[in-house]
Amino acid sequence: MMAKRDFYEVLGVSKTATADEIKKAYRKKAMQYHPDRNPGDKEAEEKFKEAAEAYDVLSNPDKKARYDQFGHEGLRGTSSGFDPNDLGSIFSHFGDLFGDLFSGGGGGFGSFGGFGGFGGGQAQKAVRRGGDLRVPVKLTLEEIATGCTKKLKIPKQVPCQKCGGTGAHDPQSIVTCPTCHGSGHVVHQQRSMFGVIQQVGVCSACEGTGQVIKDKCPDCRGKGTVRGEEVVEINIPAGVADGMQIRERGKGNAAPKGGIPGDLIIAISEEEHPVFEREGNNLYLNYYISFPQAALGAEVEIPLLHGRAKVKLPAGTQSGKVLRLQGKGLPEIHHRAVGDLIVNVVVWTPTRLSKEEKEQIEKLAQSDNFTPQPDKKARSFFTRVRQFFEDK
Ligand SMILES: [Zn+2]
Ligand SMILES: [Zn+2]
Repeated sequence: MMAKRDFYEVLGVSKTATADEIKKAYRKKAMQYHPDRNPGDKEAEEKFKEAAEAYDVLSNPDKKARYDQFGHEGLRGTSSGFDPNDLGSIFSHFGDLFGDLFSGGGGGFGSFGGFGGFGGGQAQKAVRRGGDLRVPVKLTLEEIATGCTKKLKIPKQVPCQKCGGTGAHDPQSIVTCPTCHGSGHVVHQQRSMFGVIQQVGVCSACEGTGQVIKDKCPDCRGKGTVRGEEVVEINIPAGVADGMQIRERGKGNAAPKGGIPGDLIIAISEEEHPVFEREGNNLYLNYYISFPQAALGAEVEIPLLHGRAKVKLPAGTQSGKVLRLQGKGLPEIHHRAVGDLIVNVVVWTPTRLSKEEKEQIEKLAQSDNFTPQPDKKARSFFTRVRQFFEDK
């Protein structure tokens, strides 16, 4: 941790500033560095916390006197009633001060959320969060090519209807926690050789929420949630791949006693395709043609994920010829680029022949044209392959 800055410097006031000037200066700093206005800005958050700590001391005549005389050392053993490292604790402690500051501006405390488990409510107590749910979804390559919508029936914890998710038998059964008096925090005091050390912790009686239930709901036994299910519609974009995850915020388990629901995580896996193989966004296909088609040339229809593509094969097409059908592969996720379909042409050799077929082929075999005569290009290809393996 950094050395503590001078509290007057933190708030930008002189040592002779009046209580009113100190209050004004603090509100100005709190507004400037408020996390609502500086989302994700760690430095602003630190300054926000620093200002709260400075104001806590300078607004208290006793602490101010100790600080003026002995500096930071003079504050040893004093308590601030809040944890300066915990934003939630700062809000519940200084909530009144901010109240009129932010109300009406749209960024008031009521709308504060999305952070460290605190948010909403009057006094920024701890908010329970429901558990995340992970659901595997298997997709075909056809679905991946176009993107799809999946309707899933998800068994999960849902808010209890009987008590409206509160866990209480009736609204009167929800009372302020007697242990922490509703603050959600308790101060532990410990004597040590340096004096009394105070630590602020979460109240275990109410788990930091500031409220306890006297008479529990009979349906959920005070939990606020019951087992149920929800039909969730998930939009899966085109181009996803095995192992990817899609997070649907707030679609997981409901939180006990009206907290924030967890997330639903969709784990994508890919069904094996009977015809195509995938590598990245390219698709691979072995396409078989007959010997007459190879020898005479043919117009063939190559299967695609959706539909077919007509391709003219020239007479004398060799087995192992590679065709690249551009843009007939899979789209890249969130991009316009589309992969290719790479077709490996294989000439099918018949495995069963009738007597007449045998005789005809034997007659054809007499011709010199049936003796393999690979051209230079084909030979150099094998040379390249050999080279490749020798270099390894
Ligand atoms: Zn209930
Ligand atoms: Zn409590």
